[in-house]
Amino acid sequence: MLILGVETSCDETAAAIVRDDRAILANVVLSQLEEHRPFGGIVPEIAARAHLEHVDRLVAEAMNQAGIGFSDLDAVAATGGPGLIGGVMVGVMTAKAIALAAGKPFLAVNHLEGHALTARLTHDLPFPYLLLLASGGHCQLLAVLGVGQYRRLGTTIDDAAGEAFDKVAKMVGLGYPGGPLVQKAADHGDPNRFALPRPMKGKPGCDFSFSGLKNAVRLLVETLAQPLSEQDAADVCAAFQAAVADSIGDRTRRAIAQFRQDWPQGRHVVVAGGVAANTALRAMLEKVAAEAGLTFLAPPLGLCTDNAAMIAWAGIERFRLGLTDSLDFAPRPRWPLDPAAPKARGAGI
Ligand code: ATP
Ligand code: MG
Ligand code: FE
Repeated sequence: MLILGVETSCDETAAAIVRDDRAILANVVLSQLEEHRPFGGIVPEIAARAHLEHVDRLVAEAMNQAGIGFSDLDAVAATGGPGLIGGVMVGVMTAKAIALAAGKPFLAVNHLEGHALTARLTHDLPFPYLLLLASGGHCQLLAVLGVGQYRRLGTTIDDAAGEAFDKVAKMVGLGYPGGPLVQKAADHGDPNRFALPRPMKGKPGCDFSFSGLKNAVRLLVETLAQPLSEQDAADVCAAFQAAVADSIGDRTRRAIAQFRQDWPQGRHVVVAGGVAANTALRAMLEKVAAEAGLTFLAPPLGLCTDNAAMIAWAGIERFRLGLTDSLDFAPRPRWPLDPAAPKARGAGI
């Protein structure tokens, strides 16, 4: 079984061909970083136009790399949401057009389900597992029980983890996107020079919060000589990264306790989303999982950040179960994985 995946929900235009034996035949990603860099963040209108300009070429490139034609496909999958609606529309229209022209089924994939199932593309991973999904727009702990079956154990009550990394990067004078730059700076920093709060640590439940920590960093930066010296910036980044890892570690520990109680057959803790690229966070999760006797799994970095292989793979998982979507599918700017979960107070779903 061969599926073409298209991803256009944020600032990466991506196309991939994945086979049901987990072979990735092609996986092309075009980052719009340069287009958004002057604005220090993603501009939705610019993103939508860039997707429109590049998506056809990227699909053609993926097909060429895989050495196949549209008639060889079993289905066409695109991110149907959540995300920036202009971009999602571009990907969905593209996939629908190919599906219609080639007479193949169409699948609308939830972007978060793409992140959530990525570890099953890269590892022999049975359901159920505990997932930390930490990205630019989301920070959630989920019990993944099956395809389309998610129970949310915790979510952020304000900012997403990636968002906090990006904002801290700006505060200390690093560029965009912040996550990788903060990590790089933190490598040369002393995490103990500055004391920062560990948000939510010790609190009941498994929810996250990052806006207080972000403000603490803002206040701290104001006390330092401007512009920040390289060492000051590195020490702030190291302190911030340690606080995030500590806070997420605490929340994950609590989620593991709940997960083991409700789904004792589960053996794995899995991480996904762009922030999963962070090595300090990975080390913390590995430790927390080991403490509980569970195995920690993380997809390779390139499959943690946005890509279309995860969309094609989620398409395969759904298609194998006979799930397809109508060409009437309307893109969804919001699309929670666990619709029964209570709404979070702030951002995130
Ligand atoms: P979502 O998936 O929630 O819609 P998104 O698609 O923007 O959001 P991803 O592409 O999955 O998110 O992840 C991007 C985020 O990951 C950015 O906020 C970026 O700063 C962060 N990130 C990437 N690499 C690292 C890293 N090494 N350390 C910390 N954060 C990182
Ligand atoms: Mg992105
Ligand atoms: Fe994403």
